[in-house]
Amino acid sequence: MNDSETTRRREDILRAAVRQRLLDPEDALLAGFIDLDGVAASVASLHHAFPSSVTVLHTFAAKANSLVPVLAELRALGMGCEVASPGELAQALAAGFAPERIVFDSPAKTTAELTHALDLGIAVNADNFQELERIDALLANRPTPSASRLGVRVNPQVGTGSIAAMSTATATSKFGIPLRDEGNEERLLRLYRERPYLTQVHVHAGSQGVPLELIAQAVARAVAFADAVNATAGRRQVTGIDIGGGLPVNFGGDTVTPTYDEYVGQLRRHAPGLFTGGYAITTEFGRSLLAKNGFIAAYVEYTKSAGGRPIAITHAGAQVATRTVFAPASWPLRVTAHDATGAAKDGPATAQDIAGPCCFAGDVLAHGCEVPLLEPGDLVAVLDTGAYYFSTPFQYNSLPEPAVHGARGGGDGTEPVFETLRTAQTVADILARTTTPTGPSTEAAVPAG
Ligand SMILES: *Cc1c(COP(=O)(O)O)cnc(C)c1O
Repeated sequence: MNDSETTRRREDILRAAVRQRLLDPEDALLAGFIDLDGVAASVASLHHAFPSSVTVLHTFAAKANSLVPVLAELRALGMGCEVASPGELAQALAAGFAPERIVFDSPAKTTAELTHALDLGIAVNADNFQELERIDALLANRPTPSASRLGVRVNPQVGTGSIAAMSTATATSKFGIPLRDEGNEERLLRLYRERPYLTQVHVHAGSQGVPLELIAQAVARAVAFADAVNATAGRRQVTGIDIGGGLPVNFGGDTVTPTYDEYVGQLRRHAPGLFTGGYAITTEFGRSLLAKNGFIAAYVEYTKSAGGRPIAITHAGAQVATRTVFAPASWPLRVTAHDATGAAKDGPATAQDIAGPCCFAGDVLAHGCEVPLLEPGDLVAVLDTGAYYFSTPFQYNSLPEPAVHGARGGGDGTEPVFETLRTAQTVADILARTTTPTGPSTEAAVPAG
């Protein structure tokens, strides 16, 4: 799709959502939307980018959007799933992923979690030397071998991207075994040689803000390490490399850049050994598959002016865009203005602050956003929020999590068809979550309806 087609698609979804009352100024003040056709196209471009001569398992990083129907959709499109907690594992299983298509990465796996993973046969990437010792002990005590593919996450220590909090291949990162620290590479080589069960090497150099070249260099270090294991073992002990995710997303416009094809081009340049067929590849993309296929829409409740600056108070704030509100320079979001029907609003671009409903001054989604002047009853769309936004809520002010709707089809005079991916949280849900069974009665407090 070109940029104007993307704009039209979003407007089609928004107008249909208003007509079908998925957005309503009384009952549905905000909602998340995922273009399921767009998700299918993104998954297809990922699959297409890797050569068919290599065995590849593409997993989706569940933390980017952990709604079970979304995970089930991705499974149906041929993806596996990467999980990093018991909650995400439960979501992946509920979405129907086969154990051999699930990868478990977490820096804090408990003995019980590891036992469960080995019982199920899901792939496990150990984060550190102590975890490896634990896995040793668990394997030694098992009555039957585990079907799990087992590996170690290495930290190639190649450097930092533009967002420090998202860079995991730094000298002092908390993730993986740092290969450049004194003696570590030799120690890890020895550990692999002594443990034939270690058949995988894992690397994930970071998310948003890490340049493609740096990610590719990190992968190259992992391939070099795997080659070294196999050379010392005198056989192909390491049979798979998990290259993680981390393809950055363009939050500045509708163009998808960089593309999976460009990434694979960088991998071919820096890590050609990945494509010789000697290693099966696992990937773990999250943001790049979902971000641009989702948006949040919210009503404008009031408009005002302060210090000469127009401000629109909307119903989307820190509860759905936490990272943007707390780190606006790292996580800028585009906002578009629409009238009450969902149609793009006309009028001269006017710098406005798009604020949320939370009771703290920093709750602003976009500062000085240049859109036609908003009025009460209008809608704003907060773009590129399909990953890491509405699925990772912040429960400030006890604001409810909005509904999320999937859209399919439409165009050529027909409306997109919606399906519920998550129902909206109610005040009763929030009350139940913040009350103990023996506490004061909640009955009187729950509003009717
Ligand atoms: C977060 C994470 C991913 C996904 O990163 P994206 O930037 O969303 O592609 C993949 N692997 C691991 C280990 C992660 O922590």
